[in-house]
Amino acid sequence: MTSISVRNGLVLLADGRIDQCDVLIESGVISEIGAGLMADREIDATNCYVLPGLIDLHVHGIGTASASISSLAEIAKLEASYGATTFYPTLFAPPEEIVSQLRRHIDETDELRSTPQVAGFRLESPYIANAGGGLPRYCAPISEKATRTLLDAGSGHIRIWDISPELPGALPETARLTELGIVVSIAHTSASIEQANAAVECGARLVTHLFDTFHQPQQTEPGAYPAGLVDYLLVEDRVVCEIIGDGTHVHPLLVEKAFRCKTADKLAFVTDSNVGAGLPSGRYELPLGWGTAEVKGPNNGVRLVDRGMELCGSALTPIDEFRNLISMFGKDIATASTVCSKTPARLMGLNKGELASGRDGDVIVLDMNINLVCTIAAGEVIWQAW
Ligand SMILES: [Zn+2]
Repeated sequence: MTSISVRNGLVLLADGRIDQCDVLIESGVISEIGAGLMADREIDATNCYVLPGLIDLHVHGIGTASASISSLAEIAKLEASYGATTFYPTLFAPPEEIVSQLRRHIDETDELRSTPQVAGFRLESPYIANAGGGLPRYCAPISEKATRTLLDAGSGHIRIWDISPELPGALPETARLTELGIVVSIAHTSASIEQANAAVECGARLVTHLFDTFHQPQQTEPGAYPAGLVDYLLVEDRVVCEIIGDGTHVHPLLVEKAFRCKTADKLAFVTDSNVGAGLPSGRYELPLGWGTAEVKGPNNGVRLVDRGMELCGSALTPIDEFRNLISMFGKDIATASTVCSKTPARLMGLNKGELASGRDGDVIVLDMNINLVCTIAAGEVIWQAW
């Protein structure tokens, strides 16, 4: 395997400092960070940031590719061109369709092996109480049989499973899946604070796009300000909360509130991207009967034309979101990198998310305007701008 040295860039170190130096990657792993590191292949990163690759926990589609109908290789190629070195294809469909989508992906086993960016699958449905942008038929009661069928179809590759804590059977199911090493995410829910707390006690460690698909508590007594589920999740240190960082799904004021309550170590910015992300403004056909979607730039969401322009995921690409963290939400490079790489990596137990010797060789190079210059995954250059 060719060794790569990313030379002379502004390297974000694991302690948050930025230092002008080289990053050497050998056999797919970062072997050294320092000065004068030579390699078979050298990438000049002068006047560029060198950062860990972006990790997206929540991806339905990008460009014209969809996790429901496209090949993993096709999605991965597009993700690479937007800076993602790891992502979780996210399925949102009726249970029987999820089973066939998983089987189709598992049949691409060679592709799975040769696509190191795919860290596993995520099931957003069927165990959710309200479908959000989806249809009611995508939801199903929690049953041992359905779980077994889905787990079998996923062949050990399901890594994140969304569950609404108020559903009958949600708590034992959360405990069972947690035991299997699957990260359970509190999702699409009107649960009470007590129900959500019980799910956390059973092992739930992630919250699916906080604020979106969560209800607000009603004020029942004048003069008494009601506390709701979102308030609980903001102060529950055991859970990482996802934020869709386009400014439309979550108002910048609430993004700032989330940063102050959770800190960057407990926030994971996700795109929740759908077909249309990264494409010019226009109308696009979504697969499997979702209908026509409208996209107007990266920050206005993917909207369903036939359903009153309802939001159906975002039009963000990973690099759009990273840029928003700096330009829209006023964060520095280190903080943006934490919520886009380090926190998701720590949550998922990946040997990624920071630049340090021994970590996987997943690196992105950005120019000073936060445009992507180069993407390296598992020690191979998988995309470059020139
Ligand atoms: Zn989603």
